Amino acid sequence: VDDSIADVGPGPCALAVDVGGTIVKSALVGAGGSVGRPSRARTPREGDTALAVVEHIAELLDRARRDHPDREIAALGVAVPGIVDEDAGVGVFSENLGWRDRPLRRMLEERVDASVTLVHDVRAAGEAEARIGAGAGHDDVATVAIGTGVAAALWAGGRPIRGRGYAGEIGHLRVTDDDMRCACGGVGCLEAVASAAAIERRYRRLSADENITGAQDVIHRAERGDPVAQRVWNDALDALTAGLAALTAVVAPEVIVLSGGLSLAGDALIDPLSTRLVARVRLVPAPRIVQGRFAADAGTVGAALSTRPRAAGTSPVGGSTS
Ligand SMILES: [Zn+2]
Repeated sequence: VDDSIADVGPGPCALAVDVGGTIVKSALVGAGGSVGRPSRARTPREGDTALAVVEHIAELLDRARRDHPDREIAALGVAVPGIVDEDAGVGVFSENLGWRDRPLRRMLEERVDASVTLVHDVRAAGEAEARIGAGAGHDDVATVAIGTGVAAALWAGGRPIRGRGYAGEIGHLRVTDDDMRCACGGVGCLEAVASAAAIERRYRRLSADENITGAQDVIHRAERGDPVAQRVWNDALDALTAGLAALTAVVAPEVIVLSGGLSLAGDALIDPLSTRLVARVRLVPAPRIVQGRFAADAGTVGAALSTRPRAAGTSPVGGSTS
């Protein structure tokens, strides 16, 4: 595959798909393991989104086969958001895409002629970073995705901690006494203060400035001395510090890999967060905080990894996803 972004190791020629709330990314995976640069398309949202997404993925596979008649694309790896039961192949819940208990793997298998794996987007991104990305070489890695929401993928002793699909939902740790409402129904959640979406939303509300273009714009304004931006960014950093300190106390990662849209802020995020975390944690050594290697493509690389035979020692505890 030309213009490869990652090497996931040998296996079937495959299509890797990462279904996001607004964008679907898809990439061809060569038999040798090279992952091509993902193409992007708008996530279909009309009607029954689970059916529309399955149909869209089937069309992507048909097109990839037409475009590459020389290749036998035998596998399909799909990452989806929300709560996912990977063993059963079920999308348990996605607020963003509006499905509940949909057997997405079976629906795909009935529609396409390929072997299908279904994985959780953040966990897949975490596996990509832990095994072949910024956390490679470490057994204990937490990948924290900060985008529309905040969630972690945990890798301990060289294995994923999945908790039946529920592990790592640190976005709903209560980290502030402010009575900010969260989409989950809770109050003071990390995600309600420090997700990229929340940072933009809070700035917009407190400044009444409609020209803001996103969380990174808030960071730039804070650096230039805008007091409202400084307050919103400081609150976000405090909330993230509290969340990462709790994560550190529970699983003691050696490395925390930042992923998702906010991670593109790079040192403007990593430097102050590292300083605060070192000052905050006690007893447990502070993990090193690093930027993800695959940035916004980590979920696609993780979907590609899901199509590969599992190396010994990396199979999830309590079952196989093969
Ligand atoms: Zn919440």
